[in-house]
Amino acid sequence: MLCAQRLLRKVVVGTFLLGLMVGAYGSRPVVFLTKGQLGEARKRIRQYDWAKRSYEPIKTSATRWLNERLDFPEGPTGWYHDYFCPEHGVRLRYDEKKPHEHYCPAGKHYVRGEKFDAYWRAVTLGRLVDAARDMATVYAIESDRRFAEAAGKTLVSFAEYYDKYVRGRKPRLPARLMWQTLDEATYIIRAVAAYELIYDSGVLSEADRREIEEKWLRPTGEFIKKQTRVIHNIHCWQNSAVLCIGLVLRDKSLVDFAIENPRSGFRRQIAEGVLDDGLWYECSFGYHFYTLSALENTIIPALNNGIDISRELAKVKKMFIAPILCADGQFELPSPNDGRGGVLTWHRSAYEVAYFLFPGEKRFGRLLRKVYGSSSEGMQQRPPLAWGRDTLFYGVEKLPEKSLAPERASVNLPNSGLAILRSWLADDCTYAAMDYGPPGGGHGHPDKLNVIFSGLGQMFSPDLGSAGYGLKVHRAWYRQSLSHNAVVVDRSSQKPCTGKFVDFRGTGDVKWVSATADQAYPGVRWQRTVFLSDEGYVVIADSLRSEKEHLFDWVYHGLGEMDLAGNKMRPMSREDFGTRAGYDVPKELRVGNSGKEVIGTWKLDDGRRVFVRIPRAEGRNEVISATAPGNPSLVEMPMVVWRKRGKAADFWVVIEPVKGKSRISRAVVSDGKLTIEHTDGARNSYSVQGGKPRFSGNS
Ligand SMILES: [Zn+2]
Ligand SMILES: [Zn+2]
Repeated sequence: MLCAQRLLRKVVVGTFLLGLMVGAYGSRPVVFLTKGQLGEARKRIRQYDWAKRSYEPIKTSATRWLNERLDFPEGPTGWYHDYFCPEHGVRLRYDEKKPHEHYCPAGKHYVRGEKFDAYWRAVTLGRLVDAARDMATVYAIESDRRFAEAAGKTLVSFAEYYDKYVRGRKPRLPARLMWQTLDEATYIIRAVAAYELIYDSGVLSEADRREIEEKWLRPTGEFIKKQTRVIHNIHCWQNSAVLCIGLVLRDKSLVDFAIENPRSGFRRQIAEGVLDDGLWYECSFGYHFYTLSALENTIIPALNNGIDISRELAKVKKMFIAPILCADGQFELPSPNDGRGGVLTWHRSAYEVAYFLFPGEKRFGRLLRKVYGSSSEGMQQRPPLAWGRDTLFYGVEKLPEKSLAPERASVNLPNSGLAILRSWLADDCTYAAMDYGPPGGGHGHPDKLNVIFSGLGQMFSPDLGSAGYGLKVHRAWYRQSLSHNAVVVDRSSQKPCTGKFVDFRGTGDVKWVSATADQAYPGVRWQRTVFLSDEGYVVIADSLRSEKEHLFDWVYHGLGEMDLAGNKMRPMSREDFGTRAGYDVPKELRVGNSGKEVIGTWKLDDGRRVFVRIPRAEGRNEVISATAPGNPSLVEMPMVVWRKRGKAADFWVVIEPVKGKSRISRAVVSDGKLTIEHTDGARNSYSVQGGKPRFSGNS
């Protein structure tokens, strides 16, 4: 097996390879696959069912495209985030035979319009390049010249199409095929993966190669290079594209730009973009994995070409570990900011690469074992071709017997500002994650000190992340503070800011995290403390102080059906609730004055319930209930808002997920202290004194 360690050893003997790339692996340039890796893949296909299964879809696709053709589309390309149903908010379904009709599976209807057609054309171009790569791969495995010829024809046609399309454009429009440079990078990486495999097949004449290289790859590489200048996930993709083109053209200046460029090269992206606790700085697991898949397309070609990236790899390893530390009891990831974290096991192709690069880190192998199970059928699910890589080529053959267990400890990631409290009662993990980190750049949400909750086998109060960026609800709701479990001041969303860490206790009967976000609303000092009791409930304490009068809204959203007991509710007008910064979105507004203790019950199935206790409070208080969009936006999530007015506000709320009966009989606030009486007679007190969390109990 040609593993990453052997590739790393090559670094020692091959550090000067870059200057001598010609001839290093025979006559063809190497980007994603060495001759050795191809030889190994042939053996695996004969030996292992999972490898055969992984190869089959490539072969099926290649055989199809050998006999069928897909025309190059006429017209400009569009944007992924526009390809959602404007009515139902779900992704539209592409049909290669229907350039002007786009199917919405939620409403079972077709959507029409130029922006949908434009994205259809982008998908079609992507399918053409994938067809070429599949055919080139089958040629490389089976040496069947027909596949190389068909792949070569597609690549030459692509070069002509690019030349015509880009030259034929009106002046001053960017010189690219795709709607955005990101898409230009991701499709050209797959094109290079195809080209390297048929380079020395003999099906391409000198003139063909010149056409492909000089009329298509080089201008694309030069264009992407010009567009690459900041630390960002998109620019990681762009570096990968420039590197792949540089390697296949044997152009040292492109290779150096992608790796070494001090402003935005690969080394800089890792040094600056990856926080020391392993999270990508945009602090979104969706973008974290998206960045990782970009980086893989730099790492593998770099290792294949003897470029020493050992320093960067140490940090990349942390990038694969961080999500394991952050997932809940069902391996679901939080979704701060844009994108969605999803479930850890969905990211199996990332962990295939992780285990290939770091075979000594058993957690990566155990995660794969968790995905595939111990049966041989499970192993056959190993993922097929994705981007420029594949389980077939890079998957580690032997996985550990043991599968990964969910993380049991509470963790605090100080650089990304994510603190995760966990308490285990038998097999159930009560989990609360608070985000006090950096604002997250262009994909950030005004969600400082947002807390999300999981327990009873479900993330019952998730962060919504985002859906299509082209949807109205994206800005109107997902990007407003009100859609988060946070405090909203004066019915406006927070200013982007970084919270400040105060305290963390990750062990003991009661765990906690505390942080401030004084810049979220200038002039308002805000500290939030989250306590997690081993009894499986959470206490949230908020303290807000200002010199001026404000309106403070404490907000909680949960899945399930909601019932509010304890006070009389009456309809509330939109004007009284709020009309902007997300306040125009929630429906079924009802309000009640909070005199007594108010208990909200969110009912999940199987008798599981989440109690949200708002203790009796002095002064003018209102409790508001409403329903608001979840994600997808068709899912309605009941929400509760606890509203106070004044120069200061303190909020104490208890959140308790239970199957069966509540373990709490009363929650009382007095003298800045919350006392919880348990049904078994125990009493626990929570407070924050001089900014420091405190706990005392007689249980
Ligand atoms: Zn629809
Ligand atoms: Zn958010």
